[in-house]
Amino acid sequence: TTPAPAAGGVTPMMEQFIEIKAANPDSLLFYRMGDFYELFFDDAEKASQALGIVLTKRGKHQGHDIPMCGVPVHAADDYLQKLIAQGFRVAVCEQIEDPAEAKKRGSKSVVRRDVVRLVTPGTITEDKLLAPSESSFLMALGRVKAGGAASQASFALAWIDISTGAFRVAETSAERLLADIFRVDPRELIVAEPVFHDPDLRPVFDVLGRVANPQPPSLFDSASATGRIARFFEVATPDSFGTFSRAELSAISGAIAYVEKTQKAERPPLSRPEREEQGSTLFIDPATRANLELLRTLSGSRDGSLFKAIDRTVTGGGARLLADRLMAPLTDPEAIAARLDSVSFFRTETRLCQGLRTSLKSVADMPRALSRLALNRGGPRDLGALRAGFEAAGAIAELFAAAALPAELAAALAAIKALPEALARHLSEALDDELPLIKRDGGFVRSGYNAELDEMRALRDESRKVIAGLERSLIEETGIRSLKIRHNNVLGYYIEVTANHHSLMTGSDAAKARFIHRQTMANAMRFTTTELAELESKIANAAERALSIELAAFDRLTAEVVGEAERIRAGADALAALDVSSALALLSESEGWCRPLVDSSLAFEIAGGRHPVVEQALRRSGEGPFVANDCDLSPEGGAKAGAIWLLTGPNMGGKSTFLRQNALIAILAQTGSYVPAQSAHIGVVDRLFSRVGASDDLARGRSTFMVEMVETAAILNQAGERALVILDEIGRGTATFDGLSIAWAAVEYLHEKNRCRAIFATHFHEMTALAGKLPRLHNVTMRVKEWEGDVVFLHEVGKGAADRSYGVQVARLAGLPEAVVARAKEVLHQLEEGEVSGKTNRLVDDLPLFSVAMKREAPKPAKSDALGEALGAINPDEMTPREALEALYRLKGLA
Ligand code: ADP
Repeated sequence: TTPAPAAGGVTPMMEQFIEIKAANPDSLLFYRMGDFYELFFDDAEKASQALGIVLTKRGKHQGHDIPMCGVPVHAADDYLQKLIAQGFRVAVCEQIEDPAEAKKRGSKSVVRRDVVRLVTPGTITEDKLLAPSESSFLMALGRVKAGGAASQASFALAWIDISTGAFRVAETSAERLLADIFRVDPRELIVAEPVFHDPDLRPVFDVLGRVANPQPPSLFDSASATGRIARFFEVATPDSFGTFSRAELSAISGAIAYVEKTQKAERPPLSRPEREEQGSTLFIDPATRANLELLRTLSGSRDGSLFKAIDRTVTGGGARLLADRLMAPLTDPEAIAARLDSVSFFRTETRLCQGLRTSLKSVADMPRALSRLALNRGGPRDLGALRAGFEAAGAIAELFAAAALPAELAAALAAIKALPEALARHLSEALDDELPLIKRDGGFVRSGYNAELDEMRALRDESRKVIAGLERSLIEETGIRSLKIRHNNVLGYYIEVTANHHSLMTGSDAAKARFIHRQTMANAMRFTTTELAELESKIANAAERALSIELAAFDRLTAEVVGEAERIRAGADALAALDVSSALALLSESEGWCRPLVDSSLAFEIAGGRHPVVEQALRRSGEGPFVANDCDLSPEGGAKAGAIWLLTGPNMGGKSTFLRQNALIAILAQTGSYVPAQSAHIGVVDRLFSRVGASDDLARGRSTFMVEMVETAAILNQAGERALVILDEIGRGTATFDGLSIAWAAVEYLHEKNRCRAIFATHFHEMTALAGKLPRLHNVTMRVKEWEGDVVFLHEVGKGAADRSYGVQVARLAGLPEAVVARAKEVLHQLEEGEVSGKTNRLVDDLPLFSVAMKREAPKPAKSDALGEALGAINPDEMTPREALEALYRLKGLA
């Protein structure tokens, strides 16, 4: 039903489309046409490709075909999900009046339409579009400039989960910006355009890619922020929420303004912004976060992550809380102990723990149901979710009534008891057991709740019975056994007979008067009677009245729910906390974990530590047990700083696993979890740094070596005495002497300047000599056994240095041809000798394999000979870092 072209070849509908599209240039426009959302022009081309749906044409615009594609409204969620996942934003444009109204204005009038909602990655609420166990954060960056340069600016981040109402804000700085963003891991980060285009911040937004979304600066205006915040929360002033800096106000305002922009008329029930103090959480830089695979592996999957290995929660809220906590471990020993107390409680109170988990399993996602209801996107099942939550909460409150609870659990229980009882009662009185998805389907209000509703339903059901009776008597009266009374949306109720019987009713005058002809089909005729028409209108009226009573009840209950938003959210948070504590208790029991002691010392003493993910993987694959290892970086002999372990050992010996497991144990401990060890004493870590594994930065054009150096620089520049530093194979990405020198200097710097606890894995055996010079440095090695020329990895960390690197043996295990392995052994042998005598040229004199090819390479050994001599002249033990650096440049010149 395309409207006829108006003058100039543009139909009124196209005119409307173009106008709305112009107002939403960044989004694909879902333009509602009856039962479809249709897309036109470029949008259609992009969407048809992204969704794999057919691209067609509809009408012409300025002489050209208009490309078009469409998706059915009832399946729109699935398509939205695909588009959002591919980074698109979608503007949903609905008909905002009855088509009949438009007709009244004139035959050429188009139905009024408007965008009712912008669907963006950070603002979705639909269950289908959300993973139950993942938060979905929208983040806003606020920046307030003190002077001219960006370095003088102050920064803040505000982030909300519109699907649950969580709202937090924290100050940050240009240096930690990326780390703080990664900690929260938002789906969408909105930034004022000038900030987005600031060259100083370019690297940050480059890394974030399409997560970053530039917006007009007016959204972030800190001067009008208080007004905007006060209006949103309907308070006189936001002062009562706490005192916020100007940058924080700007960020909060940006988040709220964007919510208003995308949700149009609807208001999600956001909680008041809660401030996070800087330093209250363990700082983990982005590279470390990625490399430790806390929530996701480097390849992006949840399987294989730490989270997946430790998650035993049974509710969506619990899983989200656990993930949140894992991403932001605490630094206050008391707060950590409080969480650990909760876990310990459930370890001893096994009966309460089991009872709790049985009840929790019936808890649905209350915060998300609440948000959908408040956004007018809810249905009867969202009310049902709240009812289920209230019921479970009631059972849990009873279960814990007599228990002596630790502080965190006592607070949770108080919030659960404070859930609105009246609302809980109203929901269970009003809602039926089985609930439809959509409120307009009706049938969700329990019988006995509303007398008039019951009456209308009885009338409707009664009339249906009467109709069934009518059908029987008509069959008797006419003798047509195939006579049926049917119903469709066009005719309503009608009598149908097959065509060969129609004479029975059209024959006599009496019959003609009684049976009113409605429709002739190919092989059937349809009639009605006055009696049937009367019954029909009775049924229709009753059904309509019944539905309007149900909808009114729905609205009343929804209003009551929204009015209680704060208490519901607090109760749901409390249930999530119970879920997390009890899940961690079960985990620690089944995995044999211990309670760590976390205090304000500088200790780091792990006995029998294991890597939780590798251990579980080895168990699953049946590859034998994980070998537990100790780690002790505690200050000793009155030292005021922790120790450094220099870890050597062959590839595949288990070095990376050991490094990571100690970092993970620190994270778990400060999250408030038990840890995979026999015992653990950890002086609180304030910053965790790692340089492990190869980054996937190569795709962005930076060399592995450059990435390694940038990350190492960050560590050496930032780590303090409370930091824990994990370094794997620094210097591997460059020529041997370069690499060794850098690794060497880095360890010295860590020992002397950073004075932090660290584990440093290296394949440069030369470095073990450092232990003689640096008092807090200890050599440890991954033990191996040699057996008939092969290596056997024991995965055991022991005191001392590896005597050899076993690279050739490892290569053999990997399946290198025997001839290559044999030749490599020979070369190695000669190199080892050559290193002592200072000449390696002999190698090229007897080439058994490829004499020609290798001869061309001949100049190389000569070069490294000069390097070898220069290096031989260096005595690292007597050099200052500066001299080492100069020597390094000299060596580099020789290469
Ligand atoms: P490296 O870093 O020294 O090359 P990895 O840490 O990558 O070695 O370990 C290599 C493999 O050895 C791992 O994939 C794991 O299967 C196994 N492994 C490592 N540590 C242990 C351990 N403590 N107990 C048992 N197996 C281990």
